[in-house]
Amino acid sequence: MFRLIVLLLILVILILILVLSKLQNKMEKQPAKESYFFSNSFSDLKEVRKLIKEKNKESCEKRIFITRFLVLVIGGAITFVTSFLHNIIFLTFYLLVYVSFIIVFLTDKVFNTINKISTACPNPECQASFMLPIYECTCGRKHTKLVPGKYGIFQRTCNCGRKIPTSFINGRGKLKAYCPVCKLELKGDTMNRQYAIPIVGGPSVGKTCYINTAVYQLINNVAPKFGWKVAFIDRQNEIDYEMVINGMKKGYKPAKTDLNHLTAYQLSVKLSKNDIIRRLYIYDIMGEAFMSADTLKINKAFSYSNGFVFMIDPLSIADFALELADGNELTDNGVSQEDFNDIFEGLINGLISLSGLKNSGVLDIYLAVVINKCDIRKLDLMLGTNAIEQYRSSHAGCNRLAAQNEVCKQFLRKYNSGSFVSLVEKKFRNVQYFTCSSYVNNDGNQLGMNVEAPLLWILSMCDRRWESI
Ligand SMILES: [Zn+2]
Ligand SMILES: [Zn+2]
Repeated sequence: MFRLIVLLLILVILILILVLSKLQNKMEKQPAKESYFFSNSFSDLKEVRKLIKEKNKESCEKRIFITRFLVLVIGGAITFVTSFLHNIIFLTFYLLVYVSFIIVFLTDKVFNTINKISTACPNPECQASFMLPIYECTCGRKHTKLVPGKYGIFQRTCNCGRKIPTSFINGRGKLKAYCPVCKLELKGDTMNRQYAIPIVGGPSVGKTCYINTAVYQLINNVAPKFGWKVAFIDRQNEIDYEMVINGMKKGYKPAKTDLNHLTAYQLSVKLSKNDIIRRLYIYDIMGEAFMSADTLKINKAFSYSNGFVFMIDPLSIADFALELADGNELTDNGVSQEDFNDIFEGLINGLISLSGLKNSGVLDIYLAVVINKCDIRKLDLMLGTNAIEQYRSSHAGCNRLAAQNEVCKQFLRKYNSGSFVSLVEKKFRNVQYFTCSSYVNNDGNQLGMNVEAPLLWILSMCDRRWESI
């Protein structure tokens, strides 16, 4: 039995060597020195054998009959023994090198798979998602396939002479990196797990305000509470964010998004000392874009997004707006003119065509439905904490999130938006309703209420390491 296992192991190793050496031969040429055992070792072995044969022949030719016979027999025997030893030593080293190559190669693959390492290109025109970027040596030479292989197992020697790491385990992620598709420089450590969340909603629903206040809450309240380290990956993102937040504190609204392509805030989040960095993309896109069938086709990020935040402006619900007007409570919050049902249908149609799902199919992606502008007193009364607790007290065993769902659905049904609720239930398997306000109070010290909760819900549903509040 033991012998069989050993034989099987040897067979597997030999097959792996064969497959991996074939793959190595196909690898695009890299600006680095090839490792001896992957390049000239076998041809050198042949050369040595050829040389010994020639020397023996030469030696025989120089001698007369008896000595020629002795050289042929004794010399032949010595050559055979030394060649045999040489081959054994060579093959032992060769196997050792290949076995360590297989171990490092597979460890790198397993590490990447377990940690779900990937990076999305932040270029709105590209949005490609990949595991392995192009890496640059400090001399400027670009390595398109920096993996353990024929150019080095743990590290490779660039043509400039510098040694660079070949796996994430020993620091490849810290090298300067580029998108393999559009060649844009990628900021930050690329040994990360990526999370992409687009914020979807009609024009004037308050998406840009929402995104900025949600990031503010994540950085200033959530991160300190859980001991996370949150930072902007791109300095320009940080400058844009600070400008918007400072403006909002003084009472200015951020400029409306006017791009057909997704633009993202990229945040790096370190959940704990030993955790892999999370690269969080929060995408913004102009609301009108969802009225066009091409929007989802040209924005690749929708296909690898972890979940969507769908925002509803309650003031765009005619019956509710009328009731508010009667009660003189309509504010100058700005009203979304677009029917949110149309935007939502645009999103569903796009996602169905992206996923290749049948029209009757259910989308297996997280959806957070967010009713914004809940600083309006009437909304707070209908959907706020008291309303939720009241629902719970009359429905024993109902948890807070389930009660929140029911209260929001009741509100939408009451104001003739029941068809939206039905469509959500029909098309999405994982849904949670939220209420929030991206409102900034007069002192500028309260930026948004409950804005971070929908993001944290999606993140914690995808990965339990994110604690949901
Ligand atoms: Zn170099
Ligand atoms: Zn790109």
